[in-house]
Amino acid sequence: MRTFAILFQVALTLSLPTTLALAIAASNSTSKCLPSDETCFPPKSSFDELSDSLPTADVIYPSLSRYKSWSDATALHNQRLEKSEHTPYCAVRARSSSDVMLVVKFCAENNLLLSIKSTGHCYSGNCVQQDSVLLDLSLMNDISYSSSDSSITLQPGSNFDALYALNEETQTQSVGGMCGTVGPVGFSLGGGHGPLIRSYGLGTDQIISVDLVTAAGELVTVTKASDPDLFWALQGGGGGSFGVVTSITLRTHPAPPSLTSYVCNYPLSLDSDDNTGDSGVATASMWWSDIMPRLPNEWTFFSVLLPAPIPLEQNIPEFDKNTMQGLLSLEGLFNGDFASAEASLSELGLLDLDKSRQMSCKFENHTSLKAWHESRWFGKTPVPTRNYMSTSFAQKNFDGKGLAKVAVDAILSTDNAMSSFFGIQTGGAVSSTDSTSTSISSAFRNSDMLMEIDANWIRSANDDAQESWTHNVGRDVAALDNMAGAYVNEPDPELENWEETFWGSNFQRLQEIKSAVDPDAFFECWQCVHA
Ligand SMILES: Cc1cc2nc3c(=O)[nH]c(=O)nc-3n(C[C@H](O)[C@H](O)[C@H](O)COP(=O)(O)OP(=O)(O)OC[C@H]3O[C@@H](n4cnc5c(N)ncnc54)[C@H](O)[C@@H]3O)c2cc1C
Repeated sequence: MRTFAILFQVALTLSLPTTLALAIAASNSTSKCLPSDETCFPPKSSFDELSDSLPTADVIYPSLSRYKSWSDATALHNQRLEKSEHTPYCAVRARSSSDVMLVVKFCAENNLLLSIKSTGHCYSGNCVQQDSVLLDLSLMNDISYSSSDSSITLQPGSNFDALYALNEETQTQSVGGMCGTVGPVGFSLGGGHGPLIRSYGLGTDQIISVDLVTAAGELVTVTKASDPDLFWALQGGGGGSFGVVTSITLRTHPAPPSLTSYVCNYPLSLDSDDNTGDSGVATASMWWSDIMPRLPNEWTFFSVLLPAPIPLEQNIPEFDKNTMQGLLSLEGLFNGDFASAEASLSELGLLDLDKSRQMSCKFENHTSLKAWHESRWFGKTPVPTRNYMSTSFAQKNFDGKGLAKVAVDAILSTDNAMSSFFGIQTGGAVSSTDSTSTSISSAFRNSDMLMEIDANWIRSANDDAQESWTHNVGRDVAALDNMAGAYVNEPDPELENWEETFWGSNFQRLQEIKSAVDPDAFFECWQCVHA
């Protein structure tokens, strides 16, 4: 890991693509035994023996690359992650904890680099590392409800579509994310934001117990009572560092009879008098710093700024592409009925604010979280694209105007119609757990919003431009007053001082726990907790 730090110091003076290349080179500076080192790498016959010993899986190789089993095992959501840099030596598509334990033991005994992949949404590609032995857990996707304590236990290959469907069946609610294909396990280990966080806290706050295969290859059930330190580390320390999670038990909440959403759209335009987007800046800043902080915890709002042409799914007939250069869309989900939702906004006088600029502002009633999710554009399976992400947290008293100005300028000046700038409301129940009770940073716990700069694109020729755009806008946002931290699950792979930025003062305790539970630093991955 020290090598990473040195390389990043050097890279500060170099261009972003060069930095990325250095990061990849650095990932080869592992102390693990890699396939190129014949003096330590086990012969193929050892892998054959491992394969024969696995109760419900086989060891498979890149020679099967044209077959579905290999491409499914190694599939990554982010198409920017070149296959040539994320090709494991071999893969095991585990179907049971016994498979996982045997693979971990084999890799630990032979000092091999292990990758752990659940649904493969890891932004930086650290769930499929070059030359590693890949444990693909996507086939372990059982999910079940326990009526005795209203909890849901799920394996790492399951996803939010499955979780929300089970919620509907059992009239419960879970804290989950926006996209149905994402995995609740990685989500919860790193934090987990979504439409119910202000009612119930983060995804990680819902963990009751974790079944974990340790570096010694043993399966343990970790709870707050059984191992307070390890449990603390698992609540926010991110995946990949402390063991392989084979299942997780999460608390649920009783579902209200209905939920209510409020969507309100505004144009982003270059004002004719001064060619700036100041009216959009005023609206975004009004929502972010004046309106959202006053809302009751039942509301969780998120906002997105998009350049024109806006996606058809947005379905906003009033959007005039001749005069409007972008869109500011605000969507809130109220965890309760229509009348209470409307009353809470109108009591605060919010419905009439900036009325002349509103487009398609409306309330909608939903019978369940699943019904709401499926009716939204992000509820559809996201089409995999090349992606780069940068995040930071707006602390109390953040500079709403400054933030809105950076956001609007970035969106109005990009030539990539698939770029977006998200502002996700935090606070509420997220802040009611203090920042030492779990390993989630104080920057996350005490924030009002999570800002996400998100570029998606198709052609590899645009990689350099899009990576630089996202990184630079993210850097400008982070430099504003009262911005802090970054979200470990949505990382900019070029982030400097990422340990402190992700975990703040909790990083030191995470390191101590890492040294205690994994003294040989068996679990290793990019931007993961290290000793
Ligand atoms: C389209 C998209 C939408 C998203 N939406 C949201 C959202 O709404 N809210 C939010 O908070 N986040 C969101 N995310 C980020 C998401 O939380 C992370 O990508 C998360 O890591 C996904 O978890 P996963 O289980 O798929 O793990 P993977 O992506 O497979 O892996 C993530 C990391 O965890 C490790 N890991 C994976 N499985 C295990 C395991 N079983 N045991 C131990 N370590 C493991 C991996 O090695 C890697 O380091 C989104 C990401 C994408 C791409």
